[in-house]
Amino acid sequence: MTAKIVESVEHAPPPHWVGDGFHVRPLFARKAFTHAVSPFLMLDYAAPTMFPPRDKPAGVGPHPHRGFETVTIVYAGEVEHRDSAGHEGKIGEGDVQWMTAASGVVHDEFHARDFARKGGLVSMAQLWVNLPAEHKMAKPRYQTVLKGQIPMVALPDGAGTLRVIAGAYAGASGPAQTFTPLSVWDARLTAGKSTSLAIPAGHRSLMPVLDGAVTIGGQTFKAGDVAFFSDGGDTIDVAATTDAKLLFLSGEPIKEPIAHYGPFVMNTEAELRQAVEDFRKGRMGMLAV
Ligand code: MN
Repeated sequence: MTAKIVESVEHAPPPHWVGDGFHVRPLFARKAFTHAVSPFLMLDYAAPTMFPPRDKPAGVGPHPHRGFETVTIVYAGEVEHRDSAGHEGKIGEGDVQWMTAASGVVHDEFHARDFARKGGLVSMAQLWVNLPAEHKMAKPRYQTVLKGQIPMVALPDGAGTLRVIAGAYAGASGPAQTFTPLSVWDARLTAGKSTSLAIPAGHRSLMPVLDGAVTIGGQTFKAGDVAFFSDGGDTIDVAATTDAKLLFLSGEPIKEPIAHYGPFVMNTEAELRQAVEDFRKGRMGMLAV
């Protein structure tokens, strides 16, 4: 086993609001929508934010997506979603919604009504995952992945836990179905412990640190940092300085052109223009008011 080397680090910019419900930092803003992070596109993380009770839930109103998937991981609070393909769902702490926008949906994302009335902490991550050209115009799909379906692997020597949302680790398979080989692991590491995580061959890997601090090869990474690894090597050897909350993302890069405009990610500029036109003409559907 050979440890992967950290090739570069990104530090997240300060937070901004998405709608009025999600106070997020884009964790690798400068590399987002480039091949450096393929098959992933971008990652927003909302650290725990307190919302006072309110009748009208905070969130983001109707907007379209085409050509990729949005993966929402809830760490605290409850989020409701509905889309023009007729899907809807509510997810809470530990749950994940894996939405395949593909040919296009219009959806909204709000704090759950009952949760909003009581108020409380909201914390979540939203990861955008690219689709290969052959699936960009597939039928939209929606996977609700509840906490109880996500296997949790205990790391050796009490080093922490790994929840396998997608991909596989130590014999545990994540419930999320993906279009290309990739892994999404939700990790908690224990202060003072170290661990060696086996990464599938041929995967590009990155490690967003959401909370706490860890070291790799003597280099420290803290909340808001993202480590990018060498393609060579087959383990990530990491030690926790404090209790830490991280994501380990890896996948086979999608070696196709990336064309990005707002909520659309296609392969060409012409496809982006088509996406804008299709949305304006209502071809991605509408949400009932
Ligand atoms: Mn959205």
